[in-house]
Amino acid sequence: MSELENTEFGTAGMGEAAGIRYCKRCLMPNSRPRIQFDENDICNACHTAKRKNDIDWEARRAEFLDYVERYRPKSGPYDCIVPWSGGKDSSSIAHRLKFEFGLNPLLVTFSPLLPTEIGEHNCVEMLKVGFDQILVRPNQAVSRHLARRFFVERGNPKVHWDAGVAAAPMQIAVKFGIPLVFYAEHGPSEYGGYVLSEENMKVQDYTEVLENQIGDHPQNWLDEYIQEKDLAPYVLPSFEDIQKAEVTALYFGYFFRWSMYENYDYIKDKFDFRTDPRGRTDGTFTNFDSLDDKIDNLYYHMQFVKFGFGRTVRDACRMIQNDQMTRTEALALAEKYDDEFPQQYLSENLEFLGMTEPECMETIDLHRNSEIWNFDGNHWKLRNPPK
Ligand SMILES: [Zn+2]
Repeated sequence: MSELENTEFGTAGMGEAAGIRYCKRCLMPNSRPRIQFDENDICNACHTAKRKNDIDWEARRAEFLDYVERYRPKSGPYDCIVPWSGGKDSSSIAHRLKFEFGLNPLLVTFSPLLPTEIGEHNCVEMLKVGFDQILVRPNQAVSRHLARRFFVERGNPKVHWDAGVAAAPMQIAVKFGIPLVFYAEHGPSEYGGYVLSEENMKVQDYTEVLENQIGDHPQNWLDEYIQEKDLAPYVLPSFEDIQKAEVTALYFGYFFRWSMYENYDYIKDKFDFRTDPRGRTDGTFTNFDSLDDKIDNLYYHMQFVKFGFGRTVRDACRMIQNDQMTRTEALALAEKYDDEFPQQYLSENLEFLGMTEPECMETIDLHRNSEIWNFDGNHWKLRNPPK
C-alpha cells in the first residue's frame, strides 16, 4: 500500500449541496483528499494515465540506467534498497532489479500491524528466489496503543505504519550507506492528489511524504504512554543526514509503466505467489492486492466511511485507468462489493485494538461524514452513490 490517505476529509473540491461528484472517466469521487478535477470532471489520476501513452518509455529506461550507474555504491554488497512488503508490487520491482538489471537489492520490510499467513508465505517464497531481507518489527505494545488511538481519533489505525514504511528503508539506507532507494509508484500523480512538480514524480520529496502521505510528524504522538524513544522506528532520518549519506529515493513507476494488475501478472509465476484463497478480498473483487496485513480490510473500509470510496472503487479506478476494465463494469462491481463490511479478520482486529464490537462500530460511525452519508433508519447509505 503506497498511496495513502492520511489526511482529513478532502473537502476542497466539494461544496455543492448534492454532495460528492465522481470523475467521469473512472469512479473516483472528489472527496478523495487533494484530488483535482478539471472543468469536465476528469480527475488528475485519469490525466496521468492518459499521458502515459505519450511517454517515451525507452528514454525513461535509459534515465533509470543512468541513475543506477551514477549512484551504484563503490563498495558494499548492495546496490539499492527496495521497501518491500512481499506483495505483488514491491516483489515485482525487486525481482526485475535483480534479474533484469543485475542489481543486488536489499529488501527492507516494515512489519504489517497484524501479519497474515498468506503474506508471510509470500515473503518466505520470494526470499527463496534469492534475496536478503531486513525486517523491522517495532515494539508491539507501542504499535497497538498507537493503532487504537489513531483509529479512534482519525479513523485510520495505520498512521504510524505509514510513517514506519517511509522511515525504515531510509534509516537503513543512511546507516549502511546504500545511496539508492526504489519506492514503488508516486501515489499523488498515480491515484489523484496534489503534485508538486514533474521532478517530484521521480525523486521522492520528504516534505511531501511527511505532509501528504503520513500527514503528521511522530513528535506529535507523545502522550502519557508514548515516550520519544518509543518513536525511533517511525522517524525519518534528518534531511541533513540523508544529504550527508547522499541517499536518493526514486519512484520505480516513473521509469517503467506502472499497473498493479501487470505487476501481479509478472510476479505470479516467478514463485509460489498466493492470492486470497476465497477468490476475492473483503470489500473488493480482486484477490491479489494488499494481502499481508489483517487490519487492511478495516483500513480500506474506513477509507470508504471517511471519503465515500471503498476498496472496489479504488481497485476498479486503477484498472479503468490502465484500460483493463470499463466504467460500466466497475459500476456493477462497486454496487456489489464496495460497502461490504470487512468480516474476515474482525475478531483479530478487535483484540489488537482492545475493543468490543459495539465500541468498534461506534468508532466507525463517528467518522462518517454527513455530507457523504445518510442513515435511512436501518442502514447507512451513500447520499450520492457513483453512477
Ligand atoms: Zn478519474
